[in-house]
Amino acid sequence: MQIVRTVRELREWVGASRAEGRRIGFVPTMGALHAGHMSLVEAALQAYDTVVASIFVNPTQFGPGEDLDAYPRQEAADAKLLERAGVGLLFVPSAQEMYPEGFATTVSVGRLAKPLCGEDRPGHFDGVATVVTKLLNQVCPNAAFFGEKDWQQLTIIRRLTADLDLGVEIVGVPTVREEDGLALSSRNAYLSKEERQTAAKLPEILRTAAVSIAAGEQVADTLAVGWRSLEEAGFVPQYLELRDPHTLEPAETLGRPARLFVAARLGKTRLIDNVEVAAEAATPPTN
Ligand code: AMP
Repeated sequence: MQIVRTVRELREWVGASRAEGRRIGFVPTMGALHAGHMSLVEAALQAYDTVVASIFVNPTQFGPGEDLDAYPRQEAADAKLLERAGVGLLFVPSAQEMYPEGFATTVSVGRLAKPLCGEDRPGHFDGVATVVTKLLNQVCPNAAFFGEKDWQQLTIIRRLTADLDLGVEIVGVPTVREEDGLALSSRNAYLSKEERQTAAKLPEILRTAAVSIAAGEQVADTLAVGWRSLEEAGFVPQYLELRDPHTLEPAETLGRPARLFVAARLGKTRLIDNVEVAAEAATPPTN
């Protein structure tokens, strides 16, 4: 596996790969890799001739007071994992390489970026949309792979790719979870032993609410119960909302497939998760 740090070297490698007729899958990350990231790599390796991965802790998607400086960085260990998995090229640009002096453009995805994490983290999705647009233009892959764990991010990236005619297929990969249900996340490393135990209640409460809604319980009541359960478990909930999986508009009743989204703080760690709520499950069987 080759490691490059400049757009020029990246383009040379990609150009040579294309000249040899290889189709490229791309997996962008912020590093501190875990099995969730590696499932994106595996999906990309299965479908494409070669895989480019990137590690870039993008400063523009962190707000003031967020964890940019504390964000875990372990490039050598990450590179080993990616190499063993069979990745062809690892791109590790500096902030200076991505945002040279005079950089002035922002990609903003309107309504999709407003609710959920957009409300708690103003500017976050502009940072994500801008860096992903740059990375997709730099790598020019056939497809790029993103986790469903960050469903709103995935939705925004699908939108911007279509809107800006980037000509890249966006592939969503299901959330990889620990045995107790907690979604893998680089930020789980912040959790104390005790918090880690409590953290497993987040997916549990989310699933309980999803099952209730699918069984026909009132959405608002179920969300209120879920909110209280989160507080009782020791979380500070930020949102627990049922929304359309594509438009992210609120879903007040369960008339068609919807997704249940949660964000909650546990100590200083912010956790997010989401699950599908199947509309057909709301209809009782007729025989
Ligand atoms: P990050 O390094 O947190 O920016 O994540 C890089 C990519 O990995 C994003 O597309 C995430 O959605 C994806 N990802 C993170 N955690 C998981 C997980 N537990 N399961 C599947 N994909 C994940």
